[in-house]
Parts: sequence; structure tokens; C-alpha cells
Amino acid sequence: MGARAWRDTAGTGPSDRVGEAGGHGAVGAAFAQPAADRLSELIRFQTVSSRHPEEVDLPQFEGFIEALARLFPAVHAALELERVNGRALLFRWRGSDSDPAQAPTVLMAHYDVVPVNPLDDWTHPAFSGHQDGTYVWGRGALDDKGAVVVILAAVESLLGDGFRPGQDIYLSFGDNEETAGDSAVAVAALLRERGVSPWLVLDEGGAVAENVFPGLKPPAAVIGVSEKGILDLQLLTRGAGGHASTPPKMGVTARLARAIMALETHPFPQSMPGPIQQMLETIGRSSGLGLRLVTANMWAFRPLVTRAFDLLGDETRAMTRTTVAVTELEGSKGGNVLASTARATANIRIAVGETVDGVVDRVRRIINDPSVELTVIGGHDASPISRTDNDQFALLRRSVAASYPQAVVTPYIQTGATDSRNFTGICDAVYRFSPLLMDDADRASLHAVNEKVRIASLGAGVVFYRELIKGLR
Ligand SMILES: [Zn+2]
Repeated sequence: MGARAWRDTAGTGPSDRVGEAGGHGAVGAAFAQPAADRLSELIRFQTVSSRHPEEVDLPQFEGFIEALARLFPAVHAALELERVNGRALLFRWRGSDSDPAQAPTVLMAHYDVVPVNPLDDWTHPAFSGHQDGTYVWGRGALDDKGAVVVILAAVESLLGDGFRPGQDIYLSFGDNEETAGDSAVAVAALLRERGVSPWLVLDEGGAVAENVFPGLKPPAAVIGVSEKGILDLQLLTRGAGGHASTPPKMGVTARLARAIMALETHPFPQSMPGPIQQMLETIGRSSGLGLRLVTANMWAFRPLVTRAFDLLGDETRAMTRTTVAVTELEGSKGGNVLASTARATANIRIAVGETVDGVVDRVRRIINDPSVELTVIGGHDASPISRTDNDQFALLRRSVAASYPQAVVTPYIQTGATDSRNFTGICDAVYRFSPLLMDDADRASLHAVNEKVRIASLGAGVVFYRELIKGLR
């Protein structure tokens, strides 16, 4: 299904050699269609995460796990598979020179997905795994079943080549990443208990992004070296309630609205952490003259660049500051009843260098109304920053060069949360990157409508992980 169009334009055929010439399509062509077919099948399992256990359709998860065993037989024959916390999957590929404290690597992804909004109008049904010759469509194609497939396909093909790693390689596939669940916490705890201190941890996050920086023509392989923290903060106001015909001045809903508007009109201050500055310099070197001039003279243009980050768009703005999004709102249950309490949830993404406590203090000062009660529902600080001048980052660079020869590699700060944040306690080289090509429309489809992945990109993704694994110690 849908394979012909791709094969006709794929050129000279299979290759995964380093520096292979041609467009993104030429690299890993032989791996692309088999990976797409496996992904199509896996998308059909509706492994939808929910915070309410009764809403999780367990047979779909079990079906997915069974399908994996069928689709990747060599992996299941050669690697040890252990279930953690119910349905998280931890594979161990024993190295010939295995030393858990020395240099194992953990490759991560997750196979749960966010729900599909029934009001959304998908071009192809969200759980169809439809292929049109260019794309595999469906929920999870990019986030994050595509990554599960390319990791497993890389290992499957290396096993076929007779390859065996020197040090242990773990594949860790989460089942509740989308609800910030406890599986990744359990896996990290288990590895710690066994004395495993990984040399490298790689999870989802950045991608090979097109059209992300104005003036930059080649795609940018953006590798997350840290991720923002997260905080769910409840805002609550109380009052007497009563009949809506005799409302008090500044009642509970008005005070809550005033607090929300205060947060909206007083954004958190901007900061320019090291990786963002490094990103600007890298992008500037590879782009048009204007941006190059600016980034080569960061000391002079810093205020301007900082301002530009704010104006460029929501993605870049979010990289440089703590953001606040009011998500849930609740007041009275009746149209003619005054609310006795009004409640909002602020979902806050904490900038690198800031903490939960510091953010709560600032929110309190911004709202400046002691009658608005603040309660921390949950959260964690931003992650530490992984280095870019080490062997691990150099290996990531080489693997990108092999799979997307024209891409510019740059560190960045991941704005969303990933399972890998739980591994920063056992590893100081934690990176967030999936070797899948995404343009701005693809990025907008994450957690939204018409999620899909390019079939050619799956082939390049397999090459990325093959190079990475072969380059490990
Ligand atoms: Zn994800």
C-alpha cells in the first residue's frame, strides 16, 4: 500500500553509508518502506493515555506489545525484555564487554498517545495508519511510535548484520509519557538500583526541523540539552455564593478573572541560557547575511536578539522564558447561581535556571491579591543542561551527518516535558532528539489533527540509530 510512489523516486537504491549524497530521501531508502508498514500496523492500536485508569484500554496496549514481538522477531530473540510498572518495556541488549557501571546507553521513546478530539476532521482516520505514498498518517506517527519503530528497526537490522555492541544498550519504551506517568520514574529507579549509570540517554524531543528559523534554508537538527520544568498551579477564589440577581462587587469569578489577566499582561522575564545562545550562533553561521551579522556580534545585539525571539513566534518565545497558560476554568454550575468558589489551573513551563518555588513567589506578586489561593498540584524544576563539547554530543552529530547530510546540528532547550527528565539523576548526558523530519505543519500536528510522518524520513531515522549504535563503545 502506497509504496510505489516512494520507490520510483528513491534513486539508486539501498544505502546507509555516511555522507551519502542526495536529498533526505536518498539516505536509508531500503529501510523506509518496511518501517512504514510496521508503523502503520502499530498506529492501529489505540494506546491512548489517560489520567483515569478506567479510561485506559488495556487490550490495546497488550495488542501493541504482541505486535512488536511479531514485527521485530530478531530483537525479541536476542534481547532480554522486562516489563516495568505494568506495561513499560525495557529491553536489554547485552554487550560483549558488559559493565553496567561503565558505559551503557539508554535509547528511549514512548508508545502511548494523546486522545483524538472527536470534533477534529482528519483527512485519514486517526487510527488508520493510512499510507499515501509519501506519509504514514495517524495519531502517534511522530509522537512517538515513529521513534519506537526506527529504534527497533535499527536494532533488528544490525542483528541481521551479525552486529553486537561492546557495552549494554537498553531500549526503554514508556506507556504513560503523555500523562507524565510513573513508568519512566520506575525504570530510572530500577536502573539505579542495579548500579547502571548510563554514558548516554537519548529520548524524544527535538527533530530535524524545516522552516523553524527564518533565513535558514537547510533543516536544523535541534537536539534538546535540557528541558523546561513544569508546574500545575491552582488559583482559587471563595465567596458566599447566592442568587445571581444580587451580585456583590468583585465576586469570586471577577477576582479570578483579574488574577488571570494580571498573569497574561505581566509575562515572566526573558533569559538567554547558554544553549540558546549557542543555537543562535550556529544558525547564524548557516543562514543569510543579516542573521549572521547579528549572531557573530551577540555582545552588541543581545537586547535586539532577545526582543526578536519574542516576536518570531510562540516556539521561540517559549524557549527563553517561563510561560503561563491558564487551561481549566470552573465557576458556578448554574446559569443563575453565583459561584461560591471559582477555580483555574495555570499550566506553567519553567525556564532553565528557575525553580517551582521561585515561580510560585512571582505568580503571587503578579496577582497581588491575597484572596486568590495558590496551590501547587504538581511540578518539577527545569532539567540540568547536558554538555555539547563531549563525546556523546559528537556521536549525535556524526549520526545526524550520516542520516541527514544537509542538516545543521544545534543544541536547544526543549519546551515540552519528556520521560528522560527522570534519568538526569543517573546520567549527565541526557539528550532529546528524534531523527524524523518535521516542517512547521508537522510540528503543529503534534497532539492535534492530521499527525503524519514522511516515509522517507523513517528510512533516514533507521540510519541515524544504526550509526549511533555502531559508534558506541
Ligand atoms: Zn511524546
